[in-house]
Amino acid sequence: MKYHVYARHNLDKIPTYGKLSKEQIQSIKIVSEVLPFKTNNYVVNELIDWDNYQTDPMYILSFPQKGMLKSKQFRALSELVEKNTNKAELAKYIEELRLNLNPHPAGQLEHNVPTLKGEVLSGIQHKYRETMLFFPTQGQTCHAYCTFCFRWPQFTGLNELKFAMKQTKLVVAYLKENPSITDILITGGDPMVMKTEILERYINGILSAELPQLKTIRIGTKSLSFWPYRYISDPDSWDLLNLLRRVNEKGIHLALMAHINHPRELETDAVKEAIARIRETGTTIRSQSPILRHINDDPALWASMWKKQVNLGIIPYYMFVARDTGAQSYFGLSLERTHQIFHEAYQQISGIGRTVRGPSMSAGPGKVRIVGISEVKGEKVFVLEFLQGRNPDWVGQPFFAAYDAEAQWLDDLVPAFGEKEFFYEQEYMKLLKVDKLPGHVLSTDNKQYA
Ligand SMILES: *Cc1c(COP(=O)(O)O)cnc(C)c1O
Ligand code: SF4
Repeated sequence: MKYHVYARHNLDKIPTYGKLSKEQIQSIKIVSEVLPFKTNNYVVNELIDWDNYQTDPMYILSFPQKGMLKSKQFRALSELVEKNTNKAELAKYIEELRLNLNPHPAGQLEHNVPTLKGEVLSGIQHKYRETMLFFPTQGQTCHAYCTFCFRWPQFTGLNELKFAMKQTKLVVAYLKENPSITDILITGGDPMVMKTEILERYINGILSAELPQLKTIRIGTKSLSFWPYRYISDPDSWDLLNLLRRVNEKGIHLALMAHINHPRELETDAVKEAIARIRETGTTIRSQSPILRHINDDPALWASMWKKQVNLGIIPYYMFVARDTGAQSYFGLSLERTHQIFHEAYQQISGIGRTVRGPSMSAGPGKVRIVGISEVKGEKVFVLEFLQGRNPDWVGQPFFAAYDAEAQWLDDLVPAFGEKEFFYEQEYMKLLKVDKLPGHVLSTDNKQYA
């Protein structure tokens, strides 16, 4: 299958362009000034239900919607565009809107980027003891873009915010300095947009260092859902499968961290074929997704998605809380509703699918899971725990926040029982070398979705 990209400039080349209403076209054109828009022939022809496209989750996942900007912003931007405002002025307004959308939830740039002998390693993040994230330069884009993506600064012009690194050499040097790291998570964007040749160069560089500490390589990707032909009919598909096989044969656990938001993504012949071919190389596939209003905010949908995954040999891994960046007001749900959806879905599947963990917020101090809502001595509380902590000692200790029906994120919560702070806050401040946290801000950071 040949890959065709559709974006703002060639919207009218989409085979189903004629089905789009005037309002939809206007929304796409205006919102995509701010949030990146890119889709392709597989998503358009095989995933979207064009007969009901306006409410179709696959359509909403791929095409910018009016509600993704505040109505005031949408109106102002429409006016500027209609008035043919000069380019510089328009660009300035767009930049302002983007900065308002919290492109790098606090902490992402300052707190996780390590140094080595005084040099800043901008393509690496290291937050949790065992696992290092690596952002290969050529993997910082995707086969199509998700409208909820919080990595969008990587795709728009905010270049100084782009994490990237060319040299595997530095990755290896950093690993040698940090023998506690057993896992490398190669992420993006989507590393699977890279030609096999390039990905191979990175992986060979890492493998040939023969680091005894290295046990697992994970590759975060949305390619199964956005371009399964990556594993079937791209010119270098066989080379890619051989590369995966070679990593496994080396005794390294290779996991594809597949980003799957909706059961429909698992229904095409192409995706099934891709999954079978990947598994045949010995690679495990694990799945993760945020829970998103308009796309997958339904327990039955999650239960069916997890069952389908298990059936195809995919291991359910993470359910995330939609994070506080980008179009969060459009996609976000209350923590209570998020937990309820998780819980109802989790009850409907057998133990084999209950490998999934969540719902989890990737926040400043760590990955915080909502365990449940309970009542302690008459007070209604959220029970929380760290799945990952900036300090590993925090992991697995239950702690409590006052119940709040509206809260959508950890920084909306305050400690239960009238306590002044959560148990980890003093230490968290020490780790960040700051003397106060803005409110109870446990700000978000890093990369979680793909
Ligand atoms: C989620 C995440 C990881 C991986 O955590 P696991 O629990 O091992 O899946 C590693 N680093 C960062 C920064 C993360 O957000
Ligand atoms: S969510 Fe993942 S796959 Fe989707 S656009 Fe963002 S980085 Fe790419």
